[in-house]
Amino acid sequence: MFKLQSVTQLANETVVGVKNLLTGMGVTFKNMISPPTTQCYPEIKREMPARYRGRHFLTRNSEGLENCVGCELCAANCPVGCIHVEAAENSEGNRVSKGERYARVYEINLLRCIYCGYCEEACPEDAVILREHYELANYDRDCYIADKEELLTYPEPNQFRVNYLGNTTVVKK
Ligand code: SF4
Ligand code: SF4
Repeated sequence: MFKLQSVTQLANETVVGVKNLLTGMGVTFKNMISPPTTQCYPEIKREMPARYRGRHFLTRNSEGLENCVGCELCAANCPVGCIHVEAAENSEGNRVSKGERYARVYEINLLRCIYCGYCEEACPEDAVILREHYELANYDRDCYIADKEELLTYPEPNQFRVNYLGNTTVVKK
């Protein structure tokens, strides 16, 4: 009687074991034939969502003038104080922006920035924007102080272009 019980128990455990093994192999096989969810960075670069907050840029209007009018609202709203703006007056001989004033100095400390996007939201002119550019790693700490010239330039390899309204289009290489 005892022997019969042991054989029955062994048979049951074997059936359960085989069933579990087949279930596990089924999961493995399913993943073998499904398309991969990972990408081979940097050979393949991910298209970031439209609202991704990456590197900052300063925008220009359709006439090529800077949209920034040096009001410093972005700096006032930055929770970590990493924006530095110094405004100056436009003149007839030196018109830089469409407003009365322009940003003579505009700097962002990209190491201190927490990429919250408050500066973009606070700006009344859509002059500062955070876009899809995410390749920010560098060995040189000094390059993380982005000055106005750098912020007005869209560096390669960017995967996007920004129009004067701050809208972006992805550029396929
Ligand atoms: S994204 Fe946030 S932390 Fe960075 S500069 Fe703008 S307001 Fe400051
Ligand atoms: S980026 Fe916008 S908020 Fe900041 S100083 Fe220029 S106009 Fe003002």
